[in-house]
Amino acid sequence: MLSRLLTGVLVAAGLVVPATPALAAADTTRAPATPAYTISLTSNSTGASWTGHESVSFSNPSATPLTEVYLRLWDNYHGSCPSTPVTVSNVTGGTAGALEVACTALKITLPAAIAPGGTGSVGFDLSIVIPAGVDRFGRDGSYNFIGNALPVLAVRDTAGWHLSPYTNNGESFYALASDFDVTLDHPSSVLVPATGTSTDTAGTSGRTVTRAIAKSVREFAWAAGPFKKITGTTAGGVKVNVYSVSGISTASANSMMTTAKGALDAHAGRFGAYPYGEADVVLDNGFWFGGMEYPGFVLDLVSTTALAHELGHQWFYGIVGDDEYTTPWLDEGFTDYATDLYFNKTGAGCSITWQSSAEKLTNSMAYWDAHSSRYSTVVYGYGKCTLHDLRRLIGTTAMANLMKSYAASHWYGISTVADFKAAAQAVAGSTDLTSFWTTHRVEG
Ligand SMILES: [Zn+2]
Repeated sequence: MLSRLLTGVLVAAGLVVPATPALAAADTTRAPATPAYTISLTSNSTGASWTGHESVSFSNPSATPLTEVYLRLWDNYHGSCPSTPVTVSNVTGGTAGALEVACTALKITLPAAIAPGGTGSVGFDLSIVIPAGVDRFGRDGSYNFIGNALPVLAVRDTAGWHLSPYTNNGESFYALASDFDVTLDHPSSVLVPATGTSTDTAGTSGRTVTRAIAKSVREFAWAAGPFKKITGTTAGGVKVNVYSVSGISTASANSMMTTAKGALDAHAGRFGAYPYGEADVVLDNGFWFGGMEYPGFVLDLVSTTALAHELGHQWFYGIVGDDEYTTPWLDEGFTDYATDLYFNKTGAGCSITWQSSAEKLTNSMAYWDAHSSRYSTVVYGYGKCTLHDLRRLIGTTAMANLMKSYAASHWYGISTVADFKAAAQAVAGSTDLTSFWTTHRVEG
């Protein structure tokens, strides 16, 4: 996400050749793994409500049996629990418990424990009602934005189940790379930009069935409305679609297309080839935030900074995952650093002034929700400054190599602060980074 305070207007520059990363090593600490979601939803006449079915298969690569799974119903934050905009019913493959964590988590107890190496699946009926409000899950007149609405599996790692609360200051999301096969039956007058690659077929009278396939993504988002659409292709071969609500000028849409193409190729050159084939950019100047990232799909103001940032998230959180609630720096700070690099900004003059002994770069969203006025300054601002400072310390070439090898070694996986520190120390060689981490308050 990018807060509105941080957006501005800058000029795009830079194009580099994509590289192909190696796949990260198998992760045997996190489960349920390799989720494969199959979803079929039918909308009402406007795209503001959807009903249908979702199922998900998964595996247990960990050494501990899986006796339950949790669904995260993130968008129930936007309801008035126990009244929920996202409703799960008729669960199969397990026994549903009561809603937890302000209606954003649902435990499903499995009929038998899934042993290490085993697989399982659950299914359920699903209803989604999009509330009014120009938001990442919200409705702006006839335009619907449907982020984080599909229930996804929570992650269990060596610390146990992660059932973080939703935060509206940033993100709480933590999901493993997954495959999605999503069928959306909607009025033909409504376009549905979505994560993945879509194919349209005729439905019943006046309706279209859009099937979107996405591989190795952590979540799936879409929008529905009478958008204006333009299409382009980056120099590196990525298809880009820009969708605009009414009120966005053709010149603005074209300008954002240029930024999207430039930023996608620039990020790909620095961090590894963009693997998803296409990217959808959805523009609405009514968003209260600068932009919001989803796999292959971003919501944005008409803002070059916000767009370069959200597309940077394709690599940081999207491809290189992390637990956003626990370590927001790993996605926001890194994405803001990528944005600076795209705009040829060197971080000169960025200074770090800690306001208390408790304020640390690597604090969790629990801390930032209690100190929200400092969240952007520290996690984004000091976050990217720390990476600029690290570049100045170890050298530009070493830093570029670090960022590329770090992305490659966590490609479609999960990274931690400790992982990044170890990767940086390996590149820094004889330069001991211990005092650097201390002064920049990188703990973990
Ligand atoms: Zn962000």
